[in-house]
Amino acid sequence: MKEDILSKSIDELKELLVKLNQPKYRAEQIFYELQNGKTLDEITTISKELIAKLGESFEDKPVQIETVKKSTDGTQKFLFKLADGNIIEGVLMSYKFGHTLCVSTQVGCRMGCKFCASGLDGLVRNLTGGEIMAQVIVANKHLLGDIKERKVTNIVLMGSGEPLDNYDNIMKFLALATDKHGLYFSERNISLSTCGLVDKIYELADSGRQINLCLSLHAPNDTVRSEIMPISKAYKMNDLLSACKYYFEKTNRRILFEYIMINNVNSKKEHALELAKKLSKLNCIVNLINLNEVKENNFKSCKPEVIDNFAKVLKSYGINVTTRRSLGGDIDGACGQLRRKFIKKEEEK
Ligand code: SAH
Repeated sequence: MKEDILSKSIDELKELLVKLNQPKYRAEQIFYELQNGKTLDEITTISKELIAKLGESFEDKPVQIETVKKSTDGTQKFLFKLADGNIIEGVLMSYKFGHTLCVSTQVGCRMGCKFCASGLDGLVRNLTGGEIMAQVIVANKHLLGDIKERKVTNIVLMGSGEPLDNYDNIMKFLALATDKHGLYFSERNISLSTCGLVDKIYELADSGRQINLCLSLHAPNDTVRSEIMPISKAYKMNDLLSACKYYFEKTNRRILFEYIMINNVNSKKEHALELAKKLSKLNCIVNLINLNEVKENNFKSCKPEVIDNFAKVLKSYGINVTTRRSLGGDIDGACGQLRRKFIKKEEEK
């Protein structure tokens, strides 16, 4: 597979141009146009010879839209096809302030969370920084946006995959997404969701980047957590919460704890009380999300009143709680579901 040109920073493009005996300033032009949604041969400001040379060595369409499904609530689910034929998914949620795109960071996942469809077949491969960026670029173009009139306003690294298990490429993606010559996202508008790789949370905190950190907690203690998330065998909850505290102190970004409500597994009053006590001293938000049922396992979602009662307990301890509006339920919004369906269908053909 050819290297994707979207992964290249301006400095790397400059180096490349020097090797090709071309003026360095073209690097910024190329970077701009690629982030503007153009393919190499759509760039008219550059000579055909140079375009042809770049095209020989580099992939300029690392991500293409395979299908888009629109939910009745306006949420759109993309299946993206990568240059090697792999399929990943992304979800676009529309709000008054703009559009949030949830992107994938890996093909598959090796974290093995029991309730999640993304990891059922394990990890296939990491995505490059350019492949993560390209999801944003093609979705922006799909919404008829460009570099000047950006339609995708927020990015969440919350699709398939564990971003902190692909740390170096995430760092490259952040450099690309925040470069002032491109789509120029503010770090405040980028969020990363992790199942809790403690060492990497410290590394991210020390990286100088100030993105929002979301932590998939899903349990009030190690016993419950280890029933649903194998990662909890490697990292204990106390260490995880210390890492979150450190992240907040370093970045001043308030942590968002995600808590999927799974009936009877983590949804009882005693769970809410234990969680409330642990989190009451942290500057955080807890986001309660009803489980999206996946047919491959037996976990069940909760009735609305169970979620309301859980939220009440947390609130009584002064914790900020939001309950996530369930978006895109009719289009297989849950992680990995749509990709699996698609792959199954292809196999049947
Ligand atoms: N690996 C990262 C990001 C990808 S998963 C993480 O664990 O955070 C994105 C979010 O979707 C996580 O909070 C994950 O726990 C949640 N999720 C996975 N399967 C789900 C399901 N069936 N229903 C609801 N949320 C789910």
